[in-house]
Amino acid sequence: MTDLATFAEQNGVKYFMISFTDLFGGQRAKLVPAQAIADMARDGAGFAGFATWLDMTPAHADMLALPDPDSVIQLPWKPEVAWVAADCAMEGEEVAQAPRNVLRALVAKAADRGLRVKTGVEAEFFLLTPEGEAISDPFDTAEKPCYDQQAVMRRYDVIAEICDHMLALGWGPYQNDHEDANGQFEMNWDFADALVTADRHSFFKFMVKSVAEAHGFRATFMPKPLPNLTGNGCHCHVSVWDAEGRKNVFADDSHDLGLSESGLHFLGGIMKHAQGMTALTNPTVNSYKRINAPATASGATWAPNTVTWSGNNRTHMVRVPGPGRFELRLPDGAANPYLLQAAIIAAGLSGLEDKADPGKRLDIDMYAEGHKARGAGKLPLNLLDAVRAFDRDKALKAMMGTGFSAAYVKLKSREWDSYTAHFTSWEKANALDV
Ligand code: ADP
Ligand code: MG
Ligand code: MG
Ligand code: MG
Ligand code: MG
Repeated sequence: MTDLATFAEQNGVKYFMISFTDLFGGQRAKLVPAQAIADMARDGAGFAGFATWLDMTPAHADMLALPDPDSVIQLPWKPEVAWVAADCAMEGEEVAQAPRNVLRALVAKAADRGLRVKTGVEAEFFLLTPEGEAISDPFDTAEKPCYDQQAVMRRYDVIAEICDHMLALGWGPYQNDHEDANGQFEMNWDFADALVTADRHSFFKFMVKSVAEAHGFRATFMPKPLPNLTGNGCHCHVSVWDAEGRKNVFADDSHDLGLSESGLHFLGGIMKHAQGMTALTNPTVNSYKRINAPATASGATWAPNTVTWSGNNRTHMVRVPGPGRFELRLPDGAANPYLLQAAIIAAGLSGLEDKADPGKRLDIDMYAEGHKARGAGKLPLNLLDAVRAFDRDKALKAMMGTGFSAAYVKLKSREWDSYTAHFTSWEKANALDV
């Protein structure tokens, strides 16, 4: 464990950004001078919880964000500042609904079973003009822009700068590309323990936005920022290891697709709780324009509609790309990095407990032959259906924690109410002359 005061001395850090993530995925921070970090590391940085999305009132006591020194990252683009993820507490108790606490509790639950969940995320993003209205590159107009060599080179300065930062941080980045929508990119780095991935995922979003801004662009992870183009997914690859992290307990060559008995049960939990967990993996009104969507300009949304799984086939909710792991293709760019990991572990552990059966894998092209998947569950069509499905999934809510689940359902229901109360031009166009 690093002592933050020593870390500051050794690395020339002048300020720490003590950061926590609220229920809506917002990253909140206080900038603390290195001279004050020893006290803050012990006592925590104070916040008024009501001022964030954490389901608190103005009458609540101070919320204290206690930095986790293991998570500290010096900003590669501003080395005098270091970001550190913090765990929220109030009056000596952990705040049950704070997303990093929810994930830590589930990591501990997995550890109780002698398991370590390791994951990698693919956080797609767009580079837009600063106002966020259009893609930043007017020449990026191909009908099939995926892997476009010329277009990725026109944004080389931004992409290489971010990749250089990941190299310096030791994350093991290994590829960057232009994605399936005009203006869209993806950068991949190595998988790690779920909590490490969640911290890196948070920091990645912060870093991509910061570097893009410095170049005069606006980066967005919004699930569907442009109506006819492929949206921002955030696929998550999952494997489960023994307590030492040495043996992948999902891997078994004697099984179909190299997925072991326990791997199939974990996957069974994901299949069983998919509709319930969608409120967590796809948490915004806009999320439902990416899933269940008609084909995009490139020919495919690459996003699922139905609760199905397959081998190496990208038209299903779950793909098994190789032995010993699966890819959940449901989550989008709005997913809260901590709740995303927590939802996967919660559903997976519940599957292990129930010895859940993932059902038969389907090898059809879901986009063309979806009608053949009779009996397969449909994903929620909008945020309201998703929040209700989560609220009905008692086992998933219990796994995620009752305090968290109640707060999440309450705030997300309010968000839906705020959305429907918003007066739109569509309703006027469709009802003015009724
Ligand atoms: P694709 O686009 O084919 O879905 P990517 O290469 O973009 O895949 O991303 C794959 C992600 O999966 C990376 O983060 C990678 O580190 C991660 N990954 C690879 N193997 C495993 C594994 N055994 N467990 C968890 N994550 C893995
Ligand atoms: Mg004040
Ligand atoms: Mg990818
Ligand atoms: Mg992709
Ligand atoms: Mg993928």
